[in-house]
Formats: sequence, C-alpha cells, structure tokens
Amino acid sequence: MDEQLDFAPCGYLSLTDDGTIHCINQTLLVLLGIKKSEIMGKHINVILTKSSQSFYQLYFFPMIKAQEKVDEMFLTLKSKNGDNIPVFLNAARNKRNETFVNDCIFFPMRRRYEYEQVILSAKKAAEESTLSKEKAIVELEKVRKELECKQKELLELNETLQKLTVTDELTGLHNRRSYNKVLSQNLSLFHRTTNPFSLLMIDIDHFKLVNDTYGHLTGDKILKELSYILKNESRVCDFTARYGGEEFVLILPHTEKEGSIQIAESIRESVETAIWTVPSITVSIGIATAINGDTETTVQSRADEALYISKNKGRNQLTHAEELKKGLFRN
Ligand code: GH3
Ligand code: MG
Ligand code: MG
Repeated sequence: MDEQLDFAPCGYLSLTDDGTIHCINQTLLVLLGIKKSEIMGKHINVILTKSSQSFYQLYFFPMIKAQEKVDEMFLTLKSKNGDNIPVFLNAARNKRNETFVNDCIFFPMRRRYEYEQVILSAKKAAEESTLSKEKAIVELEKVRKELECKQKELLELNETLQKLTVTDELTGLHNRRSYNKVLSQNLSLFHRTTNPFSLLMIDIDHFKLVNDTYGHLTGDKILKELSYILKNESRVCDFTARYGGEEFVLILPHTEKEGSIQIAESIRESVETAIWTVPSITVSIGIATAINGDTETTVQSRADEALYISKNKGRNQLTHAEELKKGLFRN
C-alpha cells in the first residue's frame, strides 16, 4: 500500500468475498486501536458490533455483489478496547489479479453522532414540554369551565336573592318594598311628563272572621287565590303587590279616574263572583289618581281614605278619592 493511502484522512480496508480482511491502512488501525498483525486475515466481524455484523451480512454483501458499489452505509465499528465508533462506509467492488476485492473506506462520524444525540434529546425535551404544556392547557380549560359554572351558579343565586327581596313569599306578588320603589318611579314620571297614574288599595272584608271561622291555613289559601284574581284582572303594564296582611295595592300607569274605576269595579266583581272555599269573599277598594304636587304619602293617604269610605259604605264597594273632595262621604 502506498503511503498516501496508508495515512489518508479516512480508514481503508479491502475484503475478499468471504469477508476476510487482507489489506488495512494505518488510519483505520489507529481508529480501532489495533495492530496490523492482530487484524490481517481475520473476518470483518471482529471489528463490527453485533448489529452491524448482521447488517453487513444481510445488506452489504448482497448489495456490493449486485451493484458493485455501496454508498453511505451507516455502520458501527468496535475498537479493540470495546468503544463503538459510528462510521459512514463507501465501498467499490474491483477486480485485481483476476480476483474480486471489495475496497471499503470509512468516515468516522462520532461528532455528527454526538450532535444527533444532542438534537434527539433536545427534540425529546421539546416534545415532553409540549406535552406538559398541552396537559396544563387542558387543566386550565377545566378550571376555566368550573369557574364559569360557579359564576353561573352565583348569578342564578343572585337572581333568586334579588327576586326574594322584591317578592312576597306567600302570594308570589311583589312585596311592599318593591311597591314603594315603583310608586316613587311613577310619581317622578308623572311630575316630569304629567302622564297620569292611579293607585288602588284593596282590603279583604272581614278577613279576621274568615281566619277565626275557617282557620289560618284557609285564610292563606284565600290570600293566594285573591292574588291570582288580581294578576288576572290587571294589565301587563300594571303593578300588583301585597301591601301587608290582607291588603293589596295596584299601580295603574297611564290611567285616569274613569279607567281606574273601571278596573277597580272589574276586580270587585270578580272577587264577589269567584267560587271560594268559604261561602263568600269580598273586597273594599280605595282609589286615588295622581294630582299635581303629590308625594308618595299624599297619594297613598287619599287612596287609604277612599278605602275607609268604602268600608263605611258597607264594604264590597269602591271609592275614588275625588269623591272625598266633594265631601260626599264625610260624616
Ligand atoms: P275589615 O273588613 O274591616 O278589613 O275587617 P278585617 O277583619 O279584614 O280587618 P282586620 O284588620 O280586623 O283583620 C285583618 C286580619 O287579616 C287579621 C289577620 O289575622 C289577618 N291576616 C293578616 N295577614 C295574614 C296572613 O298572612 N294569613 C292569614 N291567614 N291571615 C292574615
Ligand atoms: Mg286591613
Ligand atoms: Mg280587611
């Protein structure tokens, strides 16, 4: 072998067809850490790892015999002290002295192998971090949904509480607190626009007697049934509330005296003609229509006074506050 090939910057050996090494350069001997005398005439397997031995047998020989060359085959050599040396192998099948020889050159690729390992572990780390990021996103989404549910529950609870603060528990009508607010609103609107409204105060006649005779539970039932009639008789825009005890109020927007009397009469009649669990139930009604300078107290007092007159007239009656001005019912 000439000196250039012996010390070429790549390993070189040539093999017979049965895999025997019959020529090897210094560069490859140094790479393998082996002496020429230890390797010459030996089978190629002595410098290959187990997996490369199979690979060599199964692919290298069939390929080189068929194509007369092998390009860029990746193999792992085994040095004398047991180190693995990853290499690229290029080989050509040549005929010398009437015999076929397989010339092989080896490029160590330890560096490249190390780089690949670094890239592989970086890729693995990236995949793992993507996975944990995805897991965190799933977890976050779960927490977000739980939070959304809790917020919804809280909103519903708030809504229920809100309803409770403005609703009368027994009848389901608005309560007195809600009535005070709506009366104020109607008065402000009236003072700003002179848009009329009327107020009805409705009181069940002799309700104490009903309770005393038929019991409190029957009394409660009648309060609920009356609420139902009031709701039924009122228009969508009207506001119906339980003022307290057996007294109810209706605020009738856009309603002058005549309209309010009509509605009150309709209520009175419906109550009188309804079929009750007791022989008879009637109501007395006092009506007031808002006038200039009215406050919550004045308009309510007039309705109250009118109600008092209805009671005095013998109950199951209605009275509009304007009648009071005429002094018709003063004693
Ligand atoms: P009047 O015709 O003068 O209005 O006589 P009344 O008996 O209806 O009036 P009074 O003020 O003397 O009695 C009201 C009764 O209403 C007394 C009370 O026991 C009853 N009452 C008030 N709130 C309730 C309630 O929530 N349920 C029941 N069952 N009765 C109630
Ligand atoms: Mg009363
Ligand atoms: Mg009463």
